[in-house]
Amino acid sequence: ETAWWREADAKHHLHPFTDTKGLANEGGSRIITKAEGVWLTDSEGNRILDGMAGLWCVNMGYGRKELALAAYDQMLELPYYNTFFKTATPPSVELSEKLAKITPDGLNHVFYGSSGSDANDTIVRMVRHFWNLARKPTKKIFISRNNAYHGSTMAAASLGGMAAMHGQADLPLPGFEHVMQPYWFDLGGDLTPDELGLKAAEALENRILILGAQNVAAFIGEPVQGAGGVIIPPESYWPKVQEICRKYDILLIADEVICGFGRTGNWFGCETFGISPDIMPLAKGISSGYLPLSAVMVGERVAGTLIEDGGEFYHGFTYSGHPVCCAVALANIRLMEEENIVEKVRSKTGPYLQAKLNELADHPLVGEVRGVGFLGAIELAKDKATRARFADVGTTGALCKDYATGNGLIMRAVGDTLVVSPPLIMSKPEIDELFKRARLSLDMTAKDLGV
Ligand code: PLP
Repeated sequence: ETAWWREADAKHHLHPFTDTKGLANEGGSRIITKAEGVWLTDSEGNRILDGMAGLWCVNMGYGRKELALAAYDQMLELPYYNTFFKTATPPSVELSEKLAKITPDGLNHVFYGSSGSDANDTIVRMVRHFWNLARKPTKKIFISRNNAYHGSTMAAASLGGMAAMHGQADLPLPGFEHVMQPYWFDLGGDLTPDELGLKAAEALENRILILGAQNVAAFIGEPVQGAGGVIIPPESYWPKVQEICRKYDILLIADEVICGFGRTGNWFGCETFGISPDIMPLAKGISSGYLPLSAVMVGERVAGTLIEDGGEFYHGFTYSGHPVCCAVALANIRLMEEENIVEKVRSKTGPYLQAKLNELADHPLVGEVRGVGFLGAIELAKDKATRARFADVGTTGALCKDYATGNGLIMRAVGDTLVVSPPLIMSKPEIDELFKRARLSLDMTAKDLGV
């Protein structure tokens, strides 16, 4: 069966973010057949510890009957109805109220979609529409950060700052600008982390001045840049960025697709870093990945103008506010509350995970470790003191990641940075197991390199 799955998959499936020819040459995909808690099982019976919660999303772990039953019950009751043309469903109403309650003050309005990408696409349209209504129609440009990931649609990939993505399909679209991120390990030079944080904020201000504040609509950033390498911002960074956005009347968007729903030890990353965003896209952890759902949380200023002056917003998706997805998200949030998971990540398992991560700092291959809550990064470097990289960046990271997979641990490599983002329900013994396997993989890599 496995051989057939692999062959048929390689023959027909154009995988996201995958070199299809390379995949076929390597014998095809690993087929994941089952999962329970924090453990995946593949078609050959291997048990693999999921250090990435799928794609940073299965926050409440696999096999949660409460979520399956919420979907089952809702499917029997009302499997689908739309939220266009003045209709709603009980789950969409209840979820809207719940999200308004648990998100930071002032974010009381929500627009639904099915993915982080469509949430960010929605934001681009909504923000441009808002500035037109606010009689500042020249405010069109979005500024984001180098190496950011905000999704894969044309607008979301333009918001993103990944060179590889911009190398294809003539991206970014006009009107999308990128500035440096506060990545101390690579960009810090002789500066302290806080000095680098201020420098990165100044880079934003300088760009605004070059473009003209009257032309800039919004700045978007993740509280912690996730897919870009788990970049923990120095303390100086976000307060200064927020001050700059307010000074030039530029909307501040906190992309909480990864950081939201407990990942950083608070319900939302903006609470961990003291950010008060005007708009906040949510996805992934909103349903623990059990069903596709996104929500754009919109603050009073933007929502007020849209509602008072906007009339109909000609925008929406067949699945906006899908009742089954909303019912599962509600059950997921309820489960998070019942199990007090955010508090656990903040004060118990999160600090434990960070302590275990820190133990890897003395490994000869490791230049730096950093993290917050249930997010962690391990920088591989040739020289700890100078933070010098290995030649051919990405090779060592990929090697170590492959060893980890062989050792039954999913980590992700971003260049030579290994990142982890496990399900928030991971227990202390499972965290021990994760770091035992990570260290073994580092040792095997070091041996190959002769370090
Ligand atoms: N924004 C961030 C910060 C993300 O990490 C991602 C996905 O990884 C997205 C947006 C896009 O979400 P989706 O893959 O659901 O379209």
